[in-house]
Amino acid sequence: MSELRDLYQQIILDHNRAPRNFKKLEDANRVAEGDNPLCGDKLRVYVQVSDEGVIDDIGFQGSGCAISKASASLMTSAVKGRTVQEAERLFGTFRDMVTGKAPETKEAGLGKLVAFAGVREFPARVKCASLSWHTLHAALEATAATVSTE
Ligand code: ZN
Repeated sequence: MSELRDLYQQIILDHNRAPRNFKKLEDANRVAEGDNPLCGDKLRVYVQVSDEGVIDDIGFQGSGCAISKASASLMTSAVKGRTVQEAERLFGTFRDMVTGKAPETKEAGLGKLVAFAGVREFPARVKCASLSWHTLHAALEATAATVSTE
């Protein structure tokens, strides 16, 4: 189990050090901002959704703690190429995992995102881990404006 935890730690450290899709999308058709004042995490998510409802490209920019940055990096990697519906479903599964609502067995299909399973033990960190997902959700809903975890 501690080996597994080490692996998860490695995934988070790696994505914090070298975040994937850390870029502004000039031709994004959905943009939203996320703010987690509790920790000071701020990010902006850019999404390019095709007419068929597929997330063709996604990027994010911002600053925050290692958990929030790694989560945004893994989130963008996970939803790129998926449909909006699939991305929303993944958000639900991820949220259930980090808030401890879903038993471990339900984590199937989350891939590397299970690296965040441990944050359920740290309530303050749950917001850091889910900020990028809430921001993605806001962008996909095109509700614009800023989402806050508060
Ligand atoms: Zn944070």
